[in-house]
Amino acid sequence: MVVVIGAGITGIGAAYYLRANNFPYVVLEADDDVGGTWYTQRWHGARCDSDFVKYSYSFKPYSSPRCLVEREEIHRYLRSVVEEFCILEHIRFGTRVITASFDTAERCWTVQTTRGAFRSKFLINGNGYFSLPHKPTFPGAETFAGEIVHTFDLDAGRTFPSQHVVLVGSGSTAVCAAPALAGISGSLTMLQRSPSYIYEIDNRATVLMRLCQYLYGRGVGFPMHALRRYLQARDDAIFVGFRSFPRVARWYFRRHWRGTVSRAELEEHFTPSYSPWEQRIPVAIGFKDAVRRGAVRMKTATIERFTADAIVLAGGEELRGDICILATGFQLDFVQFELRVDGVEVDTAGINFYKGIMMGGVPNYFQPVGVWHSAWTQRSETSTRFAMKIMKFMAVHGLDQVGIERRAVQYTPAITPEYLMRDLPKLPRLYGSWELPSLDNLFRYRFAPQKLNFE
Ligand SMILES: Cc1cc2nc3c(=O)[nH]c(=O)nc-3n(C[C@H](O)[C@H](O)[C@H](O)COP(=O)(O)OP(=O)(O)OC[C@H]3O[C@@H](n4cnc5c(N)ncnc54)[C@H](O)[C@@H]3O)c2cc1C
Repeated sequence: MVVVIGAGITGIGAAYYLRANNFPYVVLEADDDVGGTWYTQRWHGARCDSDFVKYSYSFKPYSSPRCLVEREEIHRYLRSVVEEFCILEHIRFGTRVITASFDTAERCWTVQTTRGAFRSKFLINGNGYFSLPHKPTFPGAETFAGEIVHTFDLDAGRTFPSQHVVLVGSGSTAVCAAPALAGISGSLTMLQRSPSYIYEIDNRATVLMRLCQYLYGRGVGFPMHALRRYLQARDDAIFVGFRSFPRVARWYFRRHWRGTVSRAELEEHFTPSYSPWEQRIPVAIGFKDAVRRGAVRMKTATIERFTADAIVLAGGEELRGDICILATGFQLDFVQFELRVDGVEVDTAGINFYKGIMMGGVPNYFQPVGVWHSAWTQRSETSTRFAMKIMKFMAVHGLDQVGIERRAVQYTPAITPEYLMRDLPKLPRLYGSWELPSLDNLFRYRFAPQKLNFE
């Protein structure tokens, strides 16, 4: 028996591969539905910013006339996956894992949950990495007569017809939410402490994409798989290209915004202090148009304090607002329960994290994760398949335990956004891959038994 924690994209992917390899499993999910992020994020404009044809699973690529799709559509897709592959009946909803303890004498995990204990030989952790919303504290916030709400607590059903909304943030969430909120608010100001690089796309799938999707629907799979590889290789090439030639990349973004905003606005609101792809690049749909029309008003300044009816900015300017929506992201937490080996709690801060799948000193434990700058599944699926190879090898050779030693490794994340740097000391340290899925998938996930400790 294998215990999988979480029924988000990672846990569902793990369940699919366990079933495909005939390993019995159970999925323990704290919530009351599948989807994780795509079930809980209900704010206005919530959607992905990776091409969904690539972000969807390789075993069920998604066909759509649009490149990026909304959260409801992603949630429906994930429901269809658990139904089609008979995963649903293996999921125990409303079951939160409290502790997971591995006993090296018994070579077995005991998983304590809110609904009893489970025992298993292997543990696959798909608990995600966003935990609690990050809510910065501002002086005077308690005196504000209006409402301060984080996007995490916001439902897209709400409207603000005659209210002045201030949206705080400059990352993907703010860029997705701004055009949607502008349509249902009296006025909308996007208040950012510092600018981001924002890339506006035409969300229509290209003729090539539609053709591959059409052929896939007719049972010809090869073009679709080639398309997914092409999209990944293209995105990796852009990532490496921008990082290698930052001046060209900066020029590219200036050109992208020229004609939409004045030179002064470009300098003030769309010219970050860092270079493109040092942080994740928010992908916009309809944002340029909303800015051009004045439906989204940009403001770049630091919040100094709140008063009863305004936000006071550094420099003294007062921004009137009835609702202040915080698009300020999440705290990162890779292990959202107590992890123990032989009764001793594992400190996962800075732990060596081999290929984004195995942690040092934690036997029979797999945690598939994605890369920061690309679609999550491009690595989470590859590392899940890597775990299956290990488990199959163990079954064939009658082995009971696999692990790697705990040791110090150097780790510099491929991108350095504030949300990552804020929690970096407590995060696992990834190594054993190049962080470029198009190459990693070909070269870095070959299974070499001699690199692991088996018993
Ligand atoms: C608005 C938004 C947009 C995003 N867009 C993209 C994008 O375009 N491309 C991309 O690659 N990534 C994107 N991401 C990142 C996204 O979170 C990941 O791609 C992916 O969804 C992570 O899936 P997961 O299953 O690992 O984690 P989650 O989706 O967080 O699911 C984890 C699941 O585990 C459950 N769980 C947690 N702890 C426990 C416990 N102790 N016991 C039992 N169950 C537990 C949770 O309830 C949840 O259902 C986005 C994230 C957000 C918030």
